[in-house]
Amino acid sequence: MEYLSTRDKTLRKSAAQAITMGLSRDGGLFTPVSFPSLSALEVETLCGMPYRKRAAYVMGKFLEDFRPEELNQFTKNAYGPDRYDDPAAAPLRKVDGRTWCLELWHGPTSAFKDMALQMLPQLLSASLRMTGEKKTACILVATSGDTGKAAMEGFADVEQTKILVFYPENGVSEIQKLQMTTQEGANVGVCAVKGNFDDAQSGVKRIFSDEAMRTALAERGYFLSSANSINWGRILPQVAYYISAYCDLLNGKELKLGEPVNFCVPTGNFGNILACYYAKRMGLPVKRMICASNCNDVLAEFIRTGVYDRNRPFHTTMSPSMDILISSNLERLLFDLSGGDDELVRGYMEELARTGRYEVTPGIKRRMQEIFYGGSCSEEETRDCIAMLHRYKYLIDPHTAVAAKVLTDYRKETGDRTPAVFVSTASPYKFCDSVLASIGEKPAEDSVERIGQMEAVTGVAAPARLAALKGKAVRFHDVTEKELMEEKVLEFLK
Ligand SMILES: *Cc1c(COP(=O)(O)O)cnc(C)c1O
Repeated sequence: MEYLSTRDKTLRKSAAQAITMGLSRDGGLFTPVSFPSLSALEVETLCGMPYRKRAAYVMGKFLEDFRPEELNQFTKNAYGPDRYDDPAAAPLRKVDGRTWCLELWHGPTSAFKDMALQMLPQLLSASLRMTGEKKTACILVATSGDTGKAAMEGFADVEQTKILVFYPENGVSEIQKLQMTTQEGANVGVCAVKGNFDDAQSGVKRIFSDEAMRTALAERGYFLSSANSINWGRILPQVAYYISAYCDLLNGKELKLGEPVNFCVPTGNFGNILACYYAKRMGLPVKRMICASNCNDVLAEFIRTGVYDRNRPFHTTMSPSMDILISSNLERLLFDLSGGDDELVRGYMEELARTGRYEVTPGIKRRMQEIFYGGSCSEEETRDCIAMLHRYKYLIDPHTAVAAKVLTDYRKETGDRTPAVFVSTASPYKFCDSVLASIGEKPAEDSVERIGQMEAVTGVAAPARLAALKGKAVRFHDVTEKELMEEKVLEFLK
């Protein structure tokens, strides 16, 4: 299977090359030339397998140059009991007669990013071997909180890699910050940026497209790669859990093979929901994908109107991983919905960079609205939703609450009674202050103390690694102006 750039279809790469490079030289994103199909028989076979085998099988369909035994070993490493605290890795939990929650946060950093970032380092290492690359990969990450930690946890002490993470100084939760600044590993670095997530992401993109930087780093024996969801190696492992969730619904006799399901996904950079779209493209019977935003509602408006307009106030919310005004992976969706029109996509992205706005053709808008629905949720509604589910003895984090609320709105607005799964992207223990406040408790002063406080109040056990943050030494204190991120990279790779 080959991969092409969303901005230039003639640019084709193998899977190993696409994963090694992360982003295409022309600024485009690597996308598979076609989608392998998943037959009903294959879905039935997957139903009898544990998560790791399902994941290896699904990924294998896109990675023909990787050996099946190798992929099986990778998923065994990624989702095994030393990394995941639930044997199902991505367990499906029933909420009511036609609603389920897909819990994706049972990995080492308690966010769904682990599902992909426990795999990516292994895919990258194998890709380096396959392509004969001798230079060290320097992974640059811009994070809104969860990616940075999950990427470092995945890449810590992985041979032939170094990883530098930039996060918005005031845009992440205290627990997230502590998770990052206490990260262990000889090859990791962390730096705060004075600005918001889009500033950090724009800085990383600028460094990637800087030829002089590329040359300077090559002379030092490095090349840049990405662990952000622009990397195909991030999207692919995520396709697997949508298919796995469907298998679990079949196994539980909740659905019959072929019956449709809806997924509601709390969305930021559009990576997670894009993976759901790709599962649908493979033939998974997904009827509607519900894209849930917090009050940074650029995507909800886009899906409703066909106009993408980032010229609006930026809000810092209690679901920081969704405080995003430029959703990078939307580019992959537009490419596919336009029938692979690279010129059109390039035009949109140039307009977005120049004016902050673009409008898609009526055809793309129609096709998008047939399968996507966009909704948003205020801070107050988020709190109410956490409190409501808590009364039903289910503790969820603010990101998940946004999805649960938007799913309710969707059902009210459309009357669609299709069974639906909302996706849970973080442990509530990553956001104790917001969760405690939502359920009517006054959060303790110290962010780590709140973990114990929330356990006492709710009786729900905290993930062991979060509880262990108490007393861990902070290793990183760096802060940079957003214009000076280049210098931090050069310093890190001295
Ligand atoms: C990253 C993240 C999201 C957004 O996912 P995208 O793939 O960027 O759309 C939502 N919730 C949490 C907790 C996250 O960490």
